Amino acid sequence: MKKFFRQPFWAVLPIFMLFLGGCGQGKVQEIGRVDTAMGTVVQQTVYVTEMGKQTEDILSLILELEEETLSWRLETSELFQVNAYAGSGRWVELSEELSRILEQCAKLTEDSGGAFDVALGPVARLWNIDSWAAGLHTESFQVPGKQELEEALAQSGMEQLRLEFLPGEECADVYLEEGAALDLGAVGKGLALDVISRYLEADAHVTGAVVSVGGSVLTYGEKPDGTSWRVGIANPNNSSVNLGILTLTGQWYISTSGDYERYVESGGVRYHHILDPATGYPADSGLSSVTVLAENGLLSDGLSTACFVLGRERGMALAQQYGAEALFVEKDGEIFMTPGMEALFQPVE
Ligand code: AMP
Ligand code: MG
Repeated sequence: MKKFFRQPFWAVLPIFMLFLGGCGQGKVQEIGRVDTAMGTVVQQTVYVTEMGKQTEDILSLILELEEETLSWRLETSELFQVNAYAGSGRWVELSEELSRILEQCAKLTEDSGGAFDVALGPVARLWNIDSWAAGLHTESFQVPGKQELEEALAQSGMEQLRLEFLPGEECADVYLEEGAALDLGAVGKGLALDVISRYLEADAHVTGAVVSVGGSVLTYGEKPDGTSWRVGIANPNNSSVNLGILTLTGQWYISTSGDYERYVESGGVRYHHILDPATGYPADSGLSSVTVLAENGLLSDGLSTACFVLGRERGMALAQQYGAEALFVEKDGEIFMTPGMEALFQPVE
C-alpha cells in the first residue's frame, strides 16, 4: 500500500482524455456523443468499422433500463411495481434480470456486513436525495428529525425483504414488508455498463469504446492507435480536476463514489448522498471518495458504495474479497490503494 498527498489543483482536465490516432487503421471511425440519462451525464466514444446507430442504441438501452426495470420513481418500471406490493402480504414474481440483480445485491449486503443495502429506500426518501445536485444549496432542505429517521430505519434493510428462487428457476419471488422500499441508485449506473457491454460484444463493427454513466466508466476493446485508455479520477476537493489517471487496456468497469457527487449544505454542514445503514446519516468513515475496478458494472458500482460506507480498512478487505482493485481518498487527501491499483494509477503532477 502506498501513500500520496493530494495533487495540486492546476492538474489536468478533463475526466476523460481520449486520443484518436488511426495509423494504418483508416477504416476505423470515431463516434462521440454526450447526453443526460439516469439523472447524470452519459459520455460515449465508440470506434467502429462501419457507422451504424451505435451511440443512439446505447443511449436507448440506458433509458430503457431506467424506465423498464430500475427506477423507483417511474410507474413504468418493474422496481416501482415491486415497491408498490410492500405490505400487501403478497409475493411478486420478478423478471430474470431483476432476480439476478437483487440476488447479487443481497450477497453484497451480507459480505459488507450491511454497509451496502438496497432496501434503504425509506431513509433515502426521507433525505430526499434525488432532489439534490452537486453543489446545490437547497433553501428548503431540512435535516430529518431523529424520530423520523428512526421510523424510516425501522422500515429499511434487507431483513424487510424475502427473496426466494424455486429449485431450477431463474426467476425469484419477492416479498416486501409494510413500508419497505428498494432503491437501486447505488448500482444503476454500473448495471447500465453491463447492458452496454453486452451490446458492444454483439456488434462486430465495434472495435473499441469508452462510455461513462455518471461516476461509472466502461472501457471496451482497443483504440485505433493502439494506445491505452486513460480514465481520470476526480479530485474530491475540486472535482473539475483530476487527482490522477488510470491507464487501462481492454475491458474494465470503473466506478467512483464520492461525497462531492451529490450533496446539500445546511448550517455549515455538508450532507452527502451515501448513507450509513447503521445510523441513517451520511456515512462518515473518513473518506472523500472510493474508486473500484471490478469484473462487471454491478460490482464496481456496488462495491464503490459499500467501500465508501465501510472506510479504508474494511473497504480494502471487501474489495480484495471480490478480486477488485480499489483506490481510497481520505478526507485529508491521503490516497491508499490495493497493490493491483498501484500499477494502473499515476497521480497528476
Ligand atoms: P453511489 O453514488 O453509487 O455511491 O450510490 C449512491 C446512491 O445509492 C444514493 O443516491 C442512494 O440512492 C443509494 N444509497 C445510499 N447509501 C446507500 C447504501 N449504504 N447502500 C446502498 N445504496 C445506498
Ligand atoms: Mg455505487
